[in-house]
Amino acid sequence: MKQSLVFSPTLREVPADADIKSHQLLLRAGFIRQNASGIYSFLPLGHKVLQKVANIVREEMNKAGAMEMLMPSLQAQELWEESGRWENFGPELMRLRDRHGRGFALGATHEEVVTSVIRDELKSYKKLPITLYQIQSKFRDEKRPRFGLLRGREFMMKDAYSFHASQESLDEVYDRLFQAYSNIFTRCGLNFRAVVADSGAMGGKDTHEFMVLSDIGEDTIAFSTDSSYAANIEMAPVVVDYSPSLDVLADIEKVSTPNKKTIEEVTEFLNLPVEKSIKTLLFKADNEFVLVLVRGDHDLNDIKLKNYLGANQVELADPKDVKEIMGCEIGSLGPVGVNSDIKILADKAVQAIGNGCCGANDEGYHYLNVNVNRDYTVTEFVDLRFIQEGDPSPDGKGIISFAKGIEVGHVFKLGTKYSESMNAEFLDQNGKTNPIIMGCYGIGVSRTLAAIVEQYNDEKGIVWPINLAPFDVHVLTVNTKNEEQVQLADEIEKLLIENGQDVLVDDRNERVGVKFADADLFGIPIRITVGKRAAEGIVELKTRNGEFSKEVTVAELINEIK
Ligand code: ATP
Ligand code: MG
Ligand code: MG
Ligand code: MG
Repeated sequence: MKQSLVFSPTLREVPADADIKSHQLLLRAGFIRQNASGIYSFLPLGHKVLQKVANIVREEMNKAGAMEMLMPSLQAQELWEESGRWENFGPELMRLRDRHGRGFALGATHEEVVTSVIRDELKSYKKLPITLYQIQSKFRDEKRPRFGLLRGREFMMKDAYSFHASQESLDEVYDRLFQAYSNIFTRCGLNFRAVVADSGAMGGKDTHEFMVLSDIGEDTIAFSTDSSYAANIEMAPVVVDYSPSLDVLADIEKVSTPNKKTIEEVTEFLNLPVEKSIKTLLFKADNEFVLVLVRGDHDLNDIKLKNYLGANQVELADPKDVKEIMGCEIGSLGPVGVNSDIKILADKAVQAIGNGCCGANDEGYHYLNVNVNRDYTVTEFVDLRFIQEGDPSPDGKGIISFAKGIEVGHVFKLGTKYSESMNAEFLDQNGKTNPIIMGCYGIGVSRTLAAIVEQYNDEKGIVWPINLAPFDVHVLTVNTKNEEQVQLADEIEKLLIENGQDVLVDDRNERVGVKFADADLFGIPIRITVGKRAAEGIVELKTRNGEFSKEVTVAELINEIK
């Protein structure tokens, strides 16, 4: 390909609104352009790299037994109502109406669509398991689109969904895809770590995130220095906004807690080990923290606890309410105090509040009649750092260290959440009807591209790993008015193409300084400069990472390059 035909407008200056490396460099190298906040065009070179990342994803997904398909971005409101997410997804879901006034969502994710496809076609256990995936634009109206491709509002995702007749089958496919994800991010040359996403499910295997280690990452990973323990601490406690309206304020009471109990006392009574049983919910109510304890084990049997503490001593979260505000089952995702399975976290929660559990942070008090969604709403998950660097690792091995991570992938055992609400059922061997068991698996393809640039750059531009570069070889003709140079460059191009290389030839009538600067920005791993010694058939061969630089004859080139 001749560079004069390539549309890749480069910038010398760092764009003012780009504050991280990948955003700056992808703009400067002319790989992407912003169209609106969080919305980007992939220009030809950016598109080539995006396709390379996507193809690595494809190859590994196919190898793991998944089949590619393509589902629509326009999704009927009714489908999202079936799953309950038309209500619950919140403002991130882009919504629109057609000319008849019918509601639609722009696909933020495809559980609803894929479940509806499957339920209509797949009725027998004999057809299970099956894993389907697609690579496609997703739409999310992010509160703060930023960092270029890292947090966009329209972005490229690979999303996969698996369907099973048994939990064992789900476990098996989950493990296989987990391995596929490891292969994908390894092939992308990334320094990553798989972490427990619901860090409360200690050692639980229900959901993992793949995190690229990076200082600009928005997630914090707690990991052990001596074991494979690693968890996202993002979802530890929940802070909620307390916004009472005048007419309901009256029935909220602040009452004293005479029989204040510690977490240990409560759990001793409940006869459940602290590490297993206690989950904490931290509510910020009117600038005061209320620690609510709920039992783990997926059921919220609060009666025992209520009796123990005495009537009116504690407001326990209603499982229904918890489910509603969290949008997930108790014990299945993070929000019910993910980290709180871990004793030291629970202890620290109590320390932070400065009081025993089951009361307000106001020594000896708690609130009654506080209602979820009426009096407060969840605003965000925060990292309250109940676990700190230097703490013993929850698995007893080593101490905790922190690192920042970019979430590039997420695997999740959904269970029957969607199949139950949407009636996706199969007949088992005995002719009995069961909800299909599901898993879902996402990779941010465009985010992964940006994460690669974050890890592969220098002060002059991008330094692509060889398998991801937009071209394999960049041939620079120093002086395009010099016939010998032009001819030799053409000859080299032909030779390399025959050798299976994807070649870019800078044939532009530009100053050589401009050519070198652009080449550095593009970051193509091998550069051949055709200059003064073209007449002797000698060119300069150089790698972008600076490890290799040598003058060679054209005859030697092929040997050197392979
Ligand atoms: P985040 O925590 O960063 O908001 P998420 O947990 O909401 O991500 P998932 O629903 O797990 O995202 O989606 C699967 C993958 O899609 C993520 O692991 C991430 O790589 C990618 N992704 C999610 N949101 C964005 C976005 N706004 N821009 C680019 N990629 C994204
Ligand atoms: Mg998100
Ligand atoms: Mg996330
Ligand atoms: Mg996620």
